[in-house]
Amino acid sequence: MSSAHLPPNALTRLPALRRRLLGQRPCGLFTDIDGTLSDIAWPPERAVVSAACRRGLERLVDRFDLVAAVSGRSAPEAREMVGLDDLTYIGLHGLEEIASGHLRVAKAAKRAATILPALVAQVVGRLGCLPGLYLERKTYGLAVHFRTAENPQAARQAVLAVLSSTVDAAVFDLVEGRKVVEVRPRARIDKGTAVRRLIRRHGLKAAIYLGDDITDVDAFRAIQQLKRRETLDGMAIVVASQETPPEVSAAADLSLDSVDQVACLLESLAQARRL
Ligand SMILES: [Mg+2]
Repeated sequence: MSSAHLPPNALTRLPALRRRLLGQRPCGLFTDIDGTLSDIAWPPERAVVSAACRRGLERLVDRFDLVAAVSGRSAPEAREMVGLDDLTYIGLHGLEEIASGHLRVAKAAKRAATILPALVAQVVGRLGCLPGLYLERKTYGLAVHFRTAENPQAARQAVLAVLSSTVDAAVFDLVEGRKVVEVRPRARIDKGTAVRRLIRRHGLKAAIYLGDDITDVDAFRAIQQLKRRETLDGMAIVVASQETPPEVSAAADLSLDSVDQVACLLESLAQARRL
């Protein structure tokens, strides 16, 4: 993707960002984890949240009324990765939430868990012999990664063909991400609905959302919609890389070009005087 399509860099707008976010209370900061606080790693278990981002978030807990990490990983795994107890954690794109130390799980996820073992067996039977694929079993679903396939485009087609003929569409959705196809419990829940829920619960007047992938677009759009209704002053920030799908950048107000720049932004917001 060429940088010509990117919105302005957030680090060039710091004074306005500080004023707009911290000048309106309550205010919140939402951030994705993989590709935003941590560089994309292979396999995904190797991903590590940058120490500078962790430090920034820790300081921001005192500045913002809500700091939440919003991830496709499970909420306990997200908390483990970020390593800060005072954050709210949205896991599995909204199916799980840890707030004040308590884990809550959506009903659709519990239902999916009951038929998941049979589905996994079927998918492994049909896809297990294809080279370069990595099947990741999740608590309520499954992810098939094709990052290391020799021909990722052909692997993506094969994965989609098998999953769409195996998965019960009444219980599960297929969702594509960066070199991955995920099988997720079917629910009207995504990062966007999760972010809206927290904005409503905390009565936020201003919020910032940082993310890098397709599933973050739901949250970007939630922020844009609340802005149009003038119930929230918000900013969607894309953490862009060569892999960033154009629709993610198109839905964002501002951009950053790396996890290091995310750390700079967090640090800069943490240094802002309380307004
Ligand atoms: Mg991400």
